[in-house]
Amino acid sequence: MAVSRATGAAVKAADRAHVFHSWSAQGLIDPLAVAGAKGSYFWDYDGRRYLDFTSGLVYTNIGYQHPKVVAAIQEQAAELVTFAPAFAVEPRSEAARLIAERTPGDLDKIFFTNGGAEAVENAVRMARLHTGRPKVLAAYRSYHGGTHTAVNITGDPRRWPSDTGTAGVVHFWTPFLYRSPFHAATEAEECARALKHLEDTIAFEGPGTIAAIVLETIPGTAGIMVPPPGYLAGVRELCDRHGIVFVLDEVMTGFGRTGKWFAAEHFGVVPDLLTFAKGVNSGYVPLGGVAISAEIAATFDRRPYPGGLTYSGHPLACAAAVATIRVMEEEGVVEHAATIGETVLGPGLRELAERHPSVGEVRGTGVFWALELVRNRETREPLVPYNPGPADNVAMAGFAAGCKANGLWPFVNMNRTHVVPPCTISVSEAEEGLEALDAALSAADAYA
Ligand code: PMP
Repeated sequence: MAVSRATGAAVKAADRAHVFHSWSAQGLIDPLAVAGAKGSYFWDYDGRRYLDFTSGLVYTNIGYQHPKVVAAIQEQAAELVTFAPAFAVEPRSEAARLIAERTPGDLDKIFFTNGGAEAVENAVRMARLHTGRPKVLAAYRSYHGGTHTAVNITGDPRRWPSDTGTAGVVHFWTPFLYRSPFHAATEAEECARALKHLEDTIAFEGPGTIAAIVLETIPGTAGIMVPPPGYLAGVRELCDRHGIVFVLDEVMTGFGRTGKWFAAEHFGVVPDLLTFAKGVNSGYVPLGGVAISAEIAATFDRRPYPGGLTYSGHPLACAAAVATIRVMEEEGVVEHAATIGETVLGPGLRELAERHPSVGEVRGTGVFWALELVRNRETREPLVPYNPGPADNVAMAGFAAGCKANGLWPFVNMNRTHVVPPCTISVSEAEEGLEALDAALSAADAYA
């Protein structure tokens, strides 16, 4: 920062006096004052360094301060720092081209937004206008963002007082064998029953009233639950049968996180609309968007699309996306994420599960893993209940403190820790993180 070099205490004091933090009880939080970050690490003003197993909010897919992306942002700022969305400008055109080339199928038109929730809002709007139908079906275990429609289609067990249960939004159950809503014993059974449940839901809601089915390709915030083979293809088939728009939300899973450019590639499905954000430019400048199929794009060929914001497709954010995608190609980041998941993170986490009774299940792919922590492996009772308050969160708080004491910043959500480091994490960094997890899991074992 070109201005004064503040002390950590001063940064913290101004934060506590004036910053109103998102998703937080303002009096109960104690945010770390961060002095800097590079690659897979960040550090505080006392020089304490943490390996970031969270990638921020699962977005720094190429790590912090990549010199090529920082340089591209600086060059764009010097050249043309901003320009309104209605014009064709080079970084925006180039980002759209590079994204369209990497999204599956014919998702070749890119609508830019400032982040993930706004992408979801627009995908739902496009689906409603395209079909002329009102309803949206979404999963109970899901997270789609913090704005009005996005939070209302979100199903993850947290419910907010602001969530009124919006008319036109219907939730359904998706496959999750470990805590099967269908009481299934095998993946094949879970898949078949989940598809039957969705088929019945569509029939009872009335197919002619349903604009869209919105799913995360692999639900992230709600627990990194990889769907069984055949599930998403089955949903695709139901959408085709009933003229329903299939929206895959790849805000978290896109741009290398799962070891592919987009997680849809794992399952051989092409949605009609695909939302993205986060990894598109590693979150260096806010950016998101919707990749749109040829058929839906054609709906708005002679009829205006009613949506957009002042900063949509901001040149600075698009320049960062262009540089990020080039870095990912040049450095083989997507392939690296797949390999490190297969050879280091997956085997390492499974080995931890063998030794720590508090680990109920390990699941994931690429650099996208969850450990489900339990009190009892037989009953699968979660280590803390859903929506834990501070009093019943002692076990997870102990686990998180154990990680931090060992130099690891963990992602903790209810009874889970998600292992979601940058896609660029090195083998030695991944091993260092696994060692810290090993030490911290002993604290959780005390409650198992
Ligand atoms: N969709 C998914 C799948 C997400 O994971 C998130 C963010 N965690 C969002 C949407 C919302 O994105 P944003 O916070 O950028 O609005």
